[in-house]
Amino acid sequence: MNEDYPPLPPMQTGIRGRCPRCGQGHLFRGFLTLAPRCEACGLDYSFADPADGPAFFVICFACIPSAALAVWLEVAFSASLLTQLFVTGPFMLLTCIPPLRPLKGWLVASQYFYKAEEGKPVRRQEAG
Ligand SMILES: [Zn+2]
Repeated sequence: MNEDYPPLPPMQTGIRGRCPRCGQGHLFRGFLTLAPRCEACGLDYSFADPADGPAFFVICFACIPSAALAVWLEVAFSASLLTQLFVTGPFMLLTCIPPLRPLKGWLVASQYFYKAEEGKPVRRQEAG
């Protein structure tokens, strides 16, 4: 059945929240909740397990600029607690929350595209 669908790059499908197999159906049911299956091609999304992957990328690429902004405001302007709360707080929310969904979609689509799954022990067959 997979031969009926051409391979779609994860950057094309996952970031847009589309099915990694057909590129048409929706990957998400809520903001970050995965749908049980694709409504267009029926692909079961139970294989998907991005775990903490989206949070890791957000921490690496969004939280560091937020912390740098807070430190810069403090060092350069001796910013008050209210300034930190009303400048750094929204900046942190705007740089951390919106990327979660496209990152999760990209990781799930990559998992499907590269057929990534949990490792299993390989047992040798006894000769004879
Ligand atoms: Zn689909």
